Amino acid sequence: MAGFGCPPNKPTAFNTGEGMPNRSIRSYIRFHAVLLIGVPVVSILLLSMFLLRNVVLEREMGKLEQHVIYQQLYVNEWLQSLRNDVAIIAGDPVVRAASVGGMRTYFSRYLDYHPDVAAAACVGPDGLSIVDTSAAGGIYLGDRAYFTAARNGKPFVSDVLVGRFSGAPVIIFAHPVTTSEGAFGGCVFLVVRMTTVQHFLNTLSGQDDGESYIVGRDGQMVSESSRLEQLRGQKGGEQGDARHVKIQSRLLHAALQDETLGTPYPSYYGETVVGAYGWINEDRWVLISEAPLSGVLHELYQFIWLITGIIIISLLLVTPFLVRFSHSLERPLSTLVAFARRIAAGEYDHECSLPEIERAPEEIQQLYNAFCDMNTKVTFTIEELERSAVVDQLTGVHNRRYLMSAGMQSVDQCLRSEVPCCCLMLDIDHFKIVNDTYGHAVGDMVLVVVARIIADSVRSSDIVARYGGEEFAVIAPNADNVKGMQLGERIRQAVAAEVFKAEGQTFGCTISIGVSGVVPETAAGGATLLERALDCADQQLYKAKRSGRNRVVTSNDC
Ligand code: GH3
Ligand code: MG
Ligand code: MG
Repeated sequence: MAGFGCPPNKPTAFNTGEGMPNRSIRSYIRFHAVLLIGVPVVSILLLSMFLLRNVVLEREMGKLEQHVIYQQLYVNEWLQSLRNDVAIIAGDPVVRAASVGGMRTYFSRYLDYHPDVAAAACVGPDGLSIVDTSAAGGIYLGDRAYFTAARNGKPFVSDVLVGRFSGAPVIIFAHPVTTSEGAFGGCVFLVVRMTTVQHFLNTLSGQDDGESYIVGRDGQMVSESSRLEQLRGQKGGEQGDARHVKIQSRLLHAALQDETLGTPYPSYYGETVVGAYGWINEDRWVLISEAPLSGVLHELYQFIWLITGIIIISLLLVTPFLVRFSHSLERPLSTLVAFARRIAAGEYDHECSLPEIERAPEEIQQLYNAFCDMNTKVTFTIEELERSAVVDQLTGVHNRRYLMSAGMQSVDQCLRSEVPCCCLMLDIDHFKIVNDTYGHAVGDMVLVVVARIIADSVRSSDIVARYGGEEFAVIAPNADNVKGMQLGERIRQAVAAEVFKAEGQTFGCTISIGVSGVVPETAAGGATLLERALDCADQQLYKAKRSGRNRVVTSNDC
């Protein structure tokens, strides 16, 4: 028979116990907990990191631009003061008069007050040095660029050079000298070290591990840089010689294009940096201030790690509650699943009072109570069905189906125990007349009374059944034909003695009975033996009817 909504060959999760693990309530709760907590947390972290990163970068760019403005001002001031100095020296009367002694005194005093200036010198109109604080006079310098510029009446500021003696980077500031007669009187020049500028650049760009440096339009390094040493080492360049190093960077490119660069870029030494620039020295040099991105974002990353740590600790603190919540659903639901499985397996003996359900959420308690009610109703219905399947509704004795199955077992039991067993077939005499005379309802009442008389007459181990219509059958284990006859006689007398009442009248009934023993045969089982015995008893009943009714006839000879 097909079940309600369940195809007969398709196994369900209840009867196999399979198919559920991947979608269990536990994995479902855990998956959604991770989803509901993880996705917002990761999204908020990523979003705040992105927004804060932009804020931090903008703030750093502003700081660098401010640095560049200060440094621009300072370096331009410094350059201008040296240009002024060399112009003042060139205009001094002792220089214009080419007084060797006067110049020596003047130059040495000047050097005493200007530690940046490595040397001061005066070159005559013939290109020969007259006074040089760092070397002997009389050296030909007429081929130098500053002398050529002076001959053309122009002041001169060199690019960065390497000091002849110190090897340190220097700049030459030169100015033409005009004699008191107004003729070309050669030039004076100052050899200036970059140390003060360098120190200043380093001081203002010290934070965040950043640096400021100066490069020419062609990328040649003007100032010193701690990273230049590293770069020279990699390139195998000469120590201390800034002229050998030319750098390339996107910021320099942007400066040459007169554009701004608001994004991080790779610096000349390979690290990603943010930077700002400003032009100095009459737009011949670019002053660049840079800070490594890792240093700039260090605090942000620390903050994000801190927040991540706080979130992880919070989650660890929340986890036991989450697990408890999960268990509070899991446990009662597992109980319900086990309960449902037992019902599906036909076990209805469940005790409906479980402590884990009492602590469960209200909805689960309601579900459990509904299951219990269902279980009770199903149990009652099944008992009713089972009972009605084997009991005759009118008379209350067993029906023919029960007689055949229980009778077969009873016969088998007798055979195994090697005890006799006999069958009785009983039929009410002229029952049709009762019906016809008093009506069908009275006939039913007679059937009920006769059935009760038979049931009261037998032993508890005997089986009484309504065989059909007004016929009954009895299987009496542990009874031979003699005992069967005695039983039949008791029943016959009891029925005959019963007084029935209908429509103010009284009447009696009789019953005819055939008795036959179960005869063991080697080839036959309980079922066949029972059928034969019942058939034989029926033949004896027929004999009883033919010989006048209201009697008991027995024989095994059929
Ligand atoms: P006999 O002595 O030869 O057995 O005669 P009889 O009249 O008893 O036998 P017959 O087979 O002629 O009639 C049986 C009657 O039993 C016919 C039928 O209407 C009646 N009967 C069968 N089942 C029921 C029932 O459940 N209730 C009632 N009231 N009558 C029934
Ligand atoms: Mg009959
Ligand atoms: Mg009859």
